[in-house]
Amino acid sequence: MNTGAPKQQAESLTAVLSVSATRTDKWRHLNAIARTWANLSDKATQGSNLRADAAKLLDTIMQLEHCWAYPGPRLLGAISDALEANDASTSARLVQKVSGALLSGDFRRDEFVWDVSAEGEGRTLDVLPPDVMEGGIGKPYFEVLVVTPSPASTWMRSRDEMARMRRPDDQFHYSVVHVGSFEDAALAMMVNDDLQAVVIIDGFQYATRHDVPGLHAYLERHIKVDPDSVVPGEMATTLARGIHTYRPELDIYLLSDRAPESLAGSDEAAPIRRLFHHVEEPMELHLSILDGVKDRFDTPYFDNLKKYALRPIGTFHALPIARGKSVFPSNWIRDMGQFYGTNILFAESSATTGGLDSLLEPTGNIKKMQDLTARAFGAKRAYLGTNGTSTSNKIVVQAICKPGDIVIVDRNCHKSHHYGMVLSGAQPYYVEAFPLTEFSMYGAVPLRTIKQALLDCMAEGQLDRVKVIDLTNCTFDGHMYNPRRVMEECLAIKPDLVFLWDEAWFGFARFNPFHRRRTAMGAAAALTERFRSKEYRDEYAAWAKEHPKLDPGDKSLLDARLLPDPDKVRIRVYQTNSTHKSMSAFRQGSMMLVWDEDFHQVEGPFEEAFFAHTSTSPNLQLIASLDLARRQMELEGYAMTMRMTDLAVRLRRAINTHPLISKYFRVASPEEMIPAEFRSSGIKDYGPPNANWSDTLKAWDEDEFALDPTRLTLVCGAAGFDGTQFKGILAERFDIQINKTSRNSILVQTNINNTHSDAALLIKALADLSREIDSRLAQEGAGGQNVFKARVKSLMTDVPDLPNFSRFHDAFRDNAKSRSNEGHMRPAFFMAYDESNCEFIRLASDEIDKRLKDGPEMVSANFVIPYPPGFPIMVPGQVIQADTIAYMRKLDVKEIHGYHAAQGLKLIKPSALAGLKAGSDR
Ligand SMILES: *Cc1c(COP(=O)(O)O)cnc(C)c1O
Repeated sequence: MNTGAPKQQAESLTAVLSVSATRTDKWRHLNAIARTWANLSDKATQGSNLRADAAKLLDTIMQLEHCWAYPGPRLLGAISDALEANDASTSARLVQKVSGALLSGDFRRDEFVWDVSAEGEGRTLDVLPPDVMEGGIGKPYFEVLVVTPSPASTWMRSRDEMARMRRPDDQFHYSVVHVGSFEDAALAMMVNDDLQAVVIIDGFQYATRHDVPGLHAYLERHIKVDPDSVVPGEMATTLARGIHTYRPELDIYLLSDRAPESLAGSDEAAPIRRLFHHVEEPMELHLSILDGVKDRFDTPYFDNLKKYALRPIGTFHALPIARGKSVFPSNWIRDMGQFYGTNILFAESSATTGGLDSLLEPTGNIKKMQDLTARAFGAKRAYLGTNGTSTSNKIVVQAICKPGDIVIVDRNCHKSHHYGMVLSGAQPYYVEAFPLTEFSMYGAVPLRTIKQALLDCMAEGQLDRVKVIDLTNCTFDGHMYNPRRVMEECLAIKPDLVFLWDEAWFGFARFNPFHRRRTAMGAAAALTERFRSKEYRDEYAAWAKEHPKLDPGDKSLLDARLLPDPDKVRIRVYQTNSTHKSMSAFRQGSMMLVWDEDFHQVEGPFEEAFFAHTSTSPNLQLIASLDLARRQMELEGYAMTMRMTDLAVRLRRAINTHPLISKYFRVASPEEMIPAEFRSSGIKDYGPPNANWSDTLKAWDEDEFALDPTRLTLVCGAAGFDGTQFKGILAERFDIQINKTSRNSILVQTNINNTHSDAALLIKALADLSREIDSRLAQEGAGGQNVFKARVKSLMTDVPDLPNFSRFHDAFRDNAKSRSNEGHMRPAFFMAYDESNCEFIRLASDEIDKRLKDGPEMVSANFVIPYPPGFPIMVPGQVIQADTIAYMRKLDVKEIHGYHAAQGLKLIKPSALAGLKAGSDR
């Protein structure tokens, strides 16, 4: 179906994906050239070179410019013409206009910058309705992509027609950008992050006139299409499906000659918001486009809270600060009002009336918010948390577990899970993540380990009791599981398993087409579709012939790819995320997302757990911020997450290739962070000259673990700094805050708020420090260099081995002989409440070594959790072994929760343990 037209000059895929960062740079550069040219006194001699430079750069810029409505063909044409005509001053004026408007974003507000001939002051676009004029905010602007078979010569007229439909009371305004082919549509959808809607008009062709190397392979990962086999009539729905996979938040409209009535009911049309018959009213389309965006823009709770704050209400309920009545007239705390402003006090209430709804029993705005949240994050249901994911995890664990249930859980998970087990009485079966001893941190739990745990339980006849697999995705340091693969294989062993994915850091991932494939909800959707398909039934039938029955003793199962029975399998997935960690919510804002085909079994307990943990006075501002965080992600999450990913990849490259900085610092690559056995793609690092984006996607689709590029482990040990020390230096001298450290590294996260200036600040700090080290070493001579080398060696080589979970003491085991390691943690935890059950031993004392050698066994009375790294090295009821003691003695961090150096380790006395019968009534 190739048109045979010559392809334009190539722009690589890497450039395409970081285009929003580089586009304005290119325009700025063009602006500088054009200005210099216009300012030349002697244009005849030097001018021709500058003109040629400008023309060449404009050519490069033009390779992708067809993807945006602004500046659009008129302005671009005028610039081209001016260059052609050797008219330096017009070229400079127009380029200045476009470059300035792109940089400032004025094209979203100012009609003047769209006008080829306009000079002087700008005019605002449209008459703005009062409610969006508040605080000087203009009408939000977006762009609409029209994919059409009509010739390019008609596009300008059609665009003007759409513009004429704008009405003053439209809540938003938009401009239209036309493309004529499938590939161009895909390209525009990827690079133009101002898009909010796509109008597909049936009958367009497949191939682009623009050549983007790598584009095809990349598209393949998102849009399965064979251009030679797609029937022209199906091209539109295939495109719709592809766009929906890549950017599910976009509204898609289809204009078709095919009978819309019959198409509307088919699966093909599922991703399409509305179908129109070709000849229908354009005004309908215009209103639908606005309505679609309004659906995402609406924040029912926040909108109502704003209204509520404006109403004159006398309050006689608790909460004296509501409406500022105890604050503004006060002699002594008036600065509270000044600092926080009036709105936050006017928006405070303890009422659940006036449309504020109740978080505990939502029927109004909060109910609506939950539905919108579920839609936005691709879940079946959503619940809102106002005490962080710490509490959300406890709620979910307690909702799905009852005493005696077994939870296979990463020992290295956040402490809220461990406390959740204590509260629910569930028995943890601890599994270990692979260690990254070199960096003093853990990775994630290998699938093999999880399967082994399940098979062990099966061998012991305990599989029925295994209720949940509880994992952290991604981990603090950026290890992303392959949740599709993990769930698929585990479900082959037990088809009704529940999965809890702690995605505290990873809430943003839904809105990025790279990360989404590694999310819990993304996986739930993919598996649901897969297990329902005919192809899967066939695949399973063939597999089941080979594996009529699973034998838990069969070691080959650990490496075999296991498939669940489509007739038995249930999709039961829970995700928690700290919205405040990766999106614009106030601290403690959290979400619980549910995709559970058997939620009817859980709904009652879920409500109980929610009541048990949720304040009866949840913070209204916090709830409103969850509403706004969702709105933002649905409208600009794509732009923001693409930018942060791009920034992270650049930062990695900038640090690791900098001749001076890389002598002392480096960002650990996927190759260093993920052992080869879990990285079958062989990917080493991100970005050129390593993997291109299609290779990266392949790795993310297929490898057992992948590294989230936005989490950068910056190794500082080779500069002679330990993590805590380096964190202090960055904060005190460079005003750079980071939060996690290890013995020889710090974690740098890029987030939706980060800019190129932030990246520059960090690079500058690293360069300054590297220069200092260089000059210090030069001055100190051999003596100083030896001290430095010894320090580096101690940080980088003499790292303590990370202790694994040992086992629960026999007194807390039902069957001391069993291969599985679950234990009763809750009674152990409560034994420590009675001081007479406990003893203390100082870490430095000889008695520890004696007890390790001769017994009796030492059993921890509580959780001991060093920060960093933040995982429990002891849990209640755990037998303490030599490696744990060795680790604690080497540990150089100050903050160890559950341990006070002056008192020593808190243990359960052997005599108290002797009083317990193994497996007794607990
Ligand atoms: C931060 C974090 C939590 C706790 O979330 P908060 O919102 O801080 O309460 C839970 N799990 C993981 C993996 C985390 O990183």
